[in-house]
This record gives sequence, C-alpha cells and structure tokens, in this order.
Amino acid sequence: VRGHEGQTIAVLGLGRSGRATAAALKAGGADVVAWDDGPSGREAAEAEGIELRDLTRASAYEGVSLLVTSPGIAHLYPAPHAAIQAAWEAGVPVDNDIGLFFRSFAAEGFEEFDTLPRVVAVTGSNGKSTTSALIHHILVENGRPAQLAGNIGRGVLDLDPPQDGEVVVLELSSYQTELARALTPDVAVLTNLSPDHLDRHAGPGGYFAAKRRLFAEGGPDRAVIGVDENEGRFLANQLATAAADDRVIAISSGRKLQGPGWNVFARKGFLSEWRKGRQVASVDLRDVPGLPGAHNHQNACAAWAVARSLGLGPRGIEAALRSYPGLPHRSQRVAEKDGVAFVNDSKATNVDSAAKALAAFPRIRWICGGLEKEGGLASLAPQLSHVAKAYVIGREAEAFALKLPGVEAEICGAMAVAVARAMEEAEPGDTVLLAPAAASFDQYDNFEKRGEDFVAEVRARL
Ligand code: ADP
Repeated sequence: VRGHEGQTIAVLGLGRSGRATAAALKAGGADVVAWDDGPSGREAAEAEGIELRDLTRASAYEGVSLLVTSPGIAHLYPAPHAAIQAAWEAGVPVDNDIGLFFRSFAAEGFEEFDTLPRVVAVTGSNGKSTTSALIHHILVENGRPAQLAGNIGRGVLDLDPPQDGEVVVLELSSYQTELARALTPDVAVLTNLSPDHLDRHAGPGGYFAAKRRLFAEGGPDRAVIGVDENEGRFLANQLATAAADDRVIAISSGRKLQGPGWNVFARKGFLSEWRKGRQVASVDLRDVPGLPGAHNHQNACAAWAVARSLGLGPRGIEAALRSYPGLPHRSQRVAEKDGVAFVNDSKATNVDSAAKALAAFPRIRWICGGLEKEGGLASLAPQLSHVAKAYVIGREAEAFALKLPGVEAEICGAMAVAVARAMEEAEPGDTVLLAPAAASFDQYDNFEKRGEDFVAEVRARL
C-alpha cells in the first residue's frame, strides 16, 4: 500500500483480511498497530509479527494517522465498535481496505504498462457474487488476465501485483462502499436493490446511499445499472443526463428497454443488447447450465455489459456464459436421479433471493426454513404456485410453515429428514431445491455449512 510511508496506522480486526491489510501497510513502509476483541485474531497477528495495541481508548491513537477496519466490524449500526468511537474522539479518520486499495491503486502510475489495469466494482442486494464470478470467468476465458477480490475471493490487499491489461473484479457490500474513503472503479455495477440488510444502515435511504457512493460524480467511466427498481432508474437517469450518453448501460430482467442509449436486457430466456435503438446482439440463455432462472439472466446481463465495456466481442462472451460452472450454494445443480434434479441455493437467505430461485424451476420440492429475516414471507406468495410441497427445516419450523398459506408443508426440522422425505416423494421432472428464505444460524455456523449438509445428505442417498 502506497501513501503511508513512515506513518503509524491502526488496524482493527485481525481475521484474514485485517492481517493482509497490516502486512500490506508494513510492506509499504508504515508502522502498524492492531487490535481484535478476540484472542485468536490477536494470537495469529502476533505470530505474524504484528504489534498489538488496545484501540478501544482514545489515548491509543496518539501519533496514529488512520484507522483501517475490517468488514465484520460495525462502523455505524447497530452501534459503532468502541475502537471506532475512540478514533472519532481522537479525530483520527476511519477507512477500510477498499479505500486503501483505491487510493494506493490510483497512486501506482503503471507507467510501464501498455494497457492500464482496470477495476470493475460490483454491488447490489443480490447477485453480486454470481455477477463478479461470471465477469471474472468471461475475462479469463477470453484471454484477459483478471483477479477476483473483495467479498468473494481474496482480500483486496492480498492480490498479486497487477499485470499489463489486467482487470481486478471487486465484489463490494454496502458496508464496504459506505465506509471506503476512496471508490474510483473504472466500471461500476449495481445489480439490483431489495430491502434486505436494512437493519445495518439508516433505513432504505441509507442503504441506497451506501451503494450509490460507487457512482459519485467523477466516478466510473462506465456504469452498469439494474433499472428494475426506482432507485436504479433514478441513478441511471442522473448519470446519463449528467455525462456522455454511453456512460450508462441499463440492464433489466424482464423488461424490453427502449431508451436511445445502451441497453442489455433478458426476456423470456433471451439476452439482447441494444445500442442507439438498434439490436447488436442476441443470445439464447435458456439452456445455459450454470445460469438457470430469470435472476441469473439478470446477472448475465450485468456481466455481458461489463465485458462489452472492456472491449470483448459478443461471440467470446457467449461461449464463456455457456461454460460458466456456477458458484457453490447459488443455484448449484448438485445431482440428478431418475429425472429429479437437486439444486443447492443455500445462499438464498432472504425472501427476495428465495423467490428468484423458486421462479427458476417449474415444479419444486422445496426445502426451506431457518432463522427468519425481517419483513416476513408474504412477498414469496406469487412464486408458491411452483411448489409441489415444502419440507421445512430449522428450530422454528412449525412457525415458519404456518406462514406459507396454500402450500402443503411438512415439518422436518433436520436437513437429513427433509432431504429423505423430498427424495421419497419427488416425481420425474421435479426439482428438489434448498432455498431456505432464512438465515442458517439456528442450526449452522453459516449458509455454506447448511449447503454442504444438503449436498452430503443428497449424495448419501443417490
Ligand atoms: P450476493 O453476493 O449479492 O449475495 P449471490 O450471487 O451470492 O449474490 O446470490 C445470492 C442469492 O441470491 C442466491 O441464492 C440466488 O438465488 C439469489 N440471486 C442471485 N442473483 C440474483 C439476482 N440477480 N436477483 C435476485 N436474486 C438473485
């Protein structure tokens, strides 16, 4: 990291990314002092030669120029971490690894390169990981060097030094964009916006504002914006009228975009790209195995738009869409037996993403339930007609089942029971789908563990 030579920088949070941040700062000539509430992070840091200092008191910040915090640490809601409050009191600015990355990256110069490295930043409520991984896959398949970082892949300060013409694809959550002091991607993407995560920001306005910081004036050369919600339409309108007319690529899932600008949309399984009122490409996505459902077609539109922005041709992008293997726990097809498909979408932790998963398959044996999120299950109603039967897991399975009116539901509690029952009752053409519409923490450490359990229970019965 450049720009902090000889300064003392405080690092809060000593998980993988915090330790990578400390190492990158030290390598750039800064003195680092660091803290973590938990002993295991502190021990790991000490073993790596990182100096510890309790940062929860304002006096700890004497001589400190900057506090860099880790993604898991609350900086505002529900309450700022004591160390952040102490930094405020001491008048020390707070940043995160993303802000450090952009400031350092912008300072690099890259004089020796023929083609400058570029940064693509992806945010949105759902589809960030899929879109980021898909962009990365398309680039690599087309011979463009690329690295994936942020919420997915490696910590942003853990990346290899960029090569000539390389693209860094960053997945950014709203917590990261809200806090970063610098955000200057070359291409910025907003996939969509749904009312998840509201609890950690100041209501819906704060959540949108956090994501919108990626698109500030003087920001990206190119903005790829999902315009299926009002916030996206507003943002696209504002950017397009404020600058050159090809600065924005609007994307939609389901609507034919008629505007005079640059549009990519998916309807009835076909992706279309239009520029200045003329169609320039069309792709049949219906049999693309790694991207089932309208929600994944939206992700394909976003990735398509980014790849086109970076100068790739339609044929090469189409071939890469077809070879995209998918990410674990996101519409991941894990097995097929006697005409029944088994799909792991454990990442569907909220109602919106579960609704998308349900919409993607015609007849579903639905494994759902867990720790319910705010907002209830009502918005799932339009998709429940696809559900042949629900097999409800989780500690509160009975209460969850009661909120699914009109759906036959069996209380299973444990994953093993749900998988066994769904498999017994499935008929050819059915999809056994894990898309819980709930968090996993009542039964699992995280959604990955839940998805792995599903996959293991399925495989054990094949
Ligand atoms: P994120 O990184 O934003 O959480 P993922 O790509 O990991 O997004 O997908 C999370 C969940 O959201 C998946 O379970 C999937 O079913 C659903 N999903 C994926 N893409 C979309 C989309 N474009 N719109 C709505 N839901 C989506």
